[in-house]
Amino acid sequence: MLVIGANAAGMTAASRAKRLAPSLDVIVLDASPRIAYSICGLPYRISGVVKSFDDLVLFTPESLRNERGIEARVSCRAVEIRSPQRKVVVESRASSGVKTGTETETIGYDKLVIATGYRPRLLDVEGMGPSSRGNGVFTASRLEDGEAIEDWLRDRDRSVRRAALIGGGYIGLEMAEALTKRGVRVALVESESNVLSSVDPEIAEKIAEELTRNGVELFTNRKVRALELRSNGDVESVVLDPGKLRAPADLVFVDVGVDPEVELAVAAGVRLGPSGAIAVTDRMETNLPGVYAAGNCAETLHLVSGSAAPIALGTVAAKQGRVVGENCAGRRTRFHGAVGTAIVKVFDLFAARTGLNESEARRAGFVPVSSTITGGFSASYFGPPTGVVKVIGDETSGRLLGAQIVGDLEAALRIDVAAVALTSRMSVEEAAQLDLAYAPPAGALWNPLLVALNTLAREL
Ligand SMILES: Cc1cc2nc3c(=O)[nH]c(=O)nc-3n(C[C@H](O)[C@H](O)[C@H](O)COP(=O)(O)OP(=O)(O)OC[C@H]3O[C@@H](n4cnc5c(N)ncnc54)[C@H](O)[C@@H]3O)c2cc1C
Repeated sequence: MLVIGANAAGMTAASRAKRLAPSLDVIVLDASPRIAYSICGLPYRISGVVKSFDDLVLFTPESLRNERGIEARVSCRAVEIRSPQRKVVVESRASSGVKTGTETETIGYDKLVIATGYRPRLLDVEGMGPSSRGNGVFTASRLEDGEAIEDWLRDRDRSVRRAALIGGGYIGLEMAEALTKRGVRVALVESESNVLSSVDPEIAEKIAEELTRNGVELFTNRKVRALELRSNGDVESVVLDPGKLRAPADLVFVDVGVDPEVELAVAAGVRLGPSGAIAVTDRMETNLPGVYAAGNCAETLHLVSGSAAPIALGTVAAKQGRVVGENCAGRRTRFHGAVGTAIVKVFDLFAARTGLNESEARRAGFVPVSSTITGGFSASYFGPPTGVVKVIGDETSGRLLGAQIVGDLEAALRIDVAAVALTSRMSVEEAAQLDLAYAPPAGALWNPLLVALNTLAREL
């Protein structure tokens, strides 16, 4: 079994297969020098909560071999899949003495797993391009990106005082908190009218308030027109439209979306789905014999919309990897799909979502009706309300379509109840009768999620 990409999806596939079939020869290869790390912890290394990048690494090639019996090849890029011969051509960065070079070899496989993840986008604007990455413009998808940000922040000659974050998605928001905690003044630029476009405005507004309360300067409804660079090529400021507004920046972090990393697969004849990610069966098989795909390079069936698209979350990648691992070990396991459950911490608030938001629901052909309430997740005599809950249902069928919560951690984590209800295809009325736990310090007799669902049931 050969796995290309040794992170959430690839490592889980390799580990599961080896556990179920110990006699299987499992090789994982990765273009990066590191494997098996939690990229999700990157913002917390930048903020200083996590002390070292090494703390985010779960396995080195040595520990992987010793503890799991899996061979890992690092700094080793797959450059061609020869599917008819069941071989992969790889290029390794080799060093002997003072010389470094590239070595090419072919590795055979019975089962191949493509787990190449995604590639963050840059904007097509003046001053931004692959070369600007070395001059203070960053994205995040690999541990090396975090190390480069850390090096940039630590360079004493540079003294990073201001940062411009382009894009107010999950990672942009986490980086806003991280850089603020490092004493950097942050300007957050978002082309939409609200940050966190994956939730509806009522929820996003609370996050915007929290950002502003913590000193983050928000520029919503603004597009980046250009980056201005110093004479040495380092970034100096971001120019915004409308109005050619200038936001000075010693560091720019870009979080404007991702593209599935599929070039290698496409060149080998792997079929893509309409979303541009690899089309897979429910056993995570591609159209090529013996070739599976998992993680952010592959499509995921969304259980509410019914359509397939990549869901760029580690949770989904790991589950798909597990399914692939089981199938490579000879089981017949299916991946049923996902509902897109996600949570993000922004300073003292957490925002969580599952299913579809209102605009996604409309695009999927539903007629969304919603109810939003503010409520306490413990009895009122234990303190003030702690969260805002929004639930969305379909006017035509009465089906529950999605939920969003913003509040403290306890409030936001209740999103998991809604995720279960969505996975079970419950109607709003069924979900409103869920038997949830209650004792005064642990919850409210009328859990706000149930209150919101009951209000929605009445409206429907
Ligand atoms: C800063 C940050 C925070 C995040 N926080 C969360 C979170 O809180 N919750 C959550 O669910 N998700 C989070 N995510 C998303 C999550 O990390 C990804 O969804 C997950 O890592 C995807 O796993 P993957 O295995 O599909 O791909 P990746 O993790 O991208 O791994 C793909 C690997 O393939 C390798 N590769 C690619 N092409 C080749 C090739 N040709 N040859 C060899 N190797 C190759 C790459 O080097 C890479 O190591 C976060 C992501 C980032 C960047």
